[in-house]
Amino acid sequence: MNLWEQNIRKVVPYVPGEQPQQEDRIKLNTNENPYPPSPSVYQAHQSADVGSFALYPDPSAGELVKKLEGYYGLEDGQVFVGVGSDDVLSLAFLTFFNSEKPILFPDVTYSFYPVWADVYRIPYECVPLDDSFHICPEDYARPNGGVVIANPNAPTSMGLKRKEVEEIIRSNQDVIVIIDEAYIDFGGETALPLLKEYENLLVVRTYSKSRSLAGMRIGFAMGNKRLIQAMNDVKESINSYTMSQEAIRVGVAAIDDEEVFQQNLKKVIRTRERSKEELEKRGFIVFDSQTNFLFARHSQIPAEKLFDALRERRIYVRHFGSERIHNYLRITIGTDEQMDILFRALDEEIKNFY
Ligand code: PMP
Repeated sequence: MNLWEQNIRKVVPYVPGEQPQQEDRIKLNTNENPYPPSPSVYQAHQSADVGSFALYPDPSAGELVKKLEGYYGLEDGQVFVGVGSDDVLSLAFLTFFNSEKPILFPDVTYSFYPVWADVYRIPYECVPLDDSFHICPEDYARPNGGVVIANPNAPTSMGLKRKEVEEIIRSNQDVIVIIDEAYIDFGGETALPLLKEYENLLVVRTYSKSRSLAGMRIGFAMGNKRLIQAMNDVKESINSYTMSQEAIRVGVAAIDDEEVFQQNLKKVIRTRERSKEELEKRGFIVFDSQTNFLFARHSQIPAEKLFDALRERRIYVRHFGSERIHNYLRITIGTDEQMDILFRALDEEIKNFY
């Protein structure tokens, strides 16, 4: 082995869901929103001044930060923005998790957490969910270097009550607790009101799901000013200009269209509840979801078999190989038409199986 090879940082990367490029695919595998962004986003995009692309963007993305602080009723300096919540979460890991004690997160959760921990050399321990895949807050009351909880959790789709989140934050006041609220707009109880009381809390959100802007890569964190300042210091030690001019402009505009935002949320939630019933009729066991996806297993047919069969039919859902959940599928909520195509495909596959 060459000497330089010994010094390469070796990591096992996160594997995102497939992004098939052909248009005739039905994509229910990465929890994108099936509806387009709001009209104000179209307008903002069309009015872009291409000449100004010659200049660097505002390194503080001040306009976007201000907009979000206003929308969420926060003070100046309480919001940090990044290139999707993956960027924000990764930077939060780098900024806040520097203890020799392990950070804690559930054994079944967003599979990027262990990858960031590994790449930054942060020790971690996975805390098992209970037998019904719930997070038990009392399990987090032990010495640790920080805690990260997705609420609602992914891929299980189930959320904790605010009281339960508070229990985790209260019993961990010597470390930072990150609550990843990527899916909160679809029905969970947000931890935001707790920001007033707990200075160790960081709430992370994204535009990728509820605001139909996964392609624009916009995420943000909300916390007390010292936490946000610490994140900005680390970010500015790595890359000054993370947010493009376009992401800033579009991110601001999206917040102006509250009505379309709320309508789209209602549509997704309505389709989710109908889809749960349709899956149950077909022999699936489906968890109650507070997200824009369902986590389900079939009572007879192995998940991998269904995953492959659907993929053959150009319907993409998500299957995870890890032991506890290998018999489950995660199905993103698409439009009603897309879901009906899925149900018809399942009818045929289930008939073929028996
Ligand atoms: N957190 C959770 C729980 C997620 O499922 C995702 C989406 N893969 C993200 C964060 C990151 O989303 P984005 O980077 O698009 O904001």
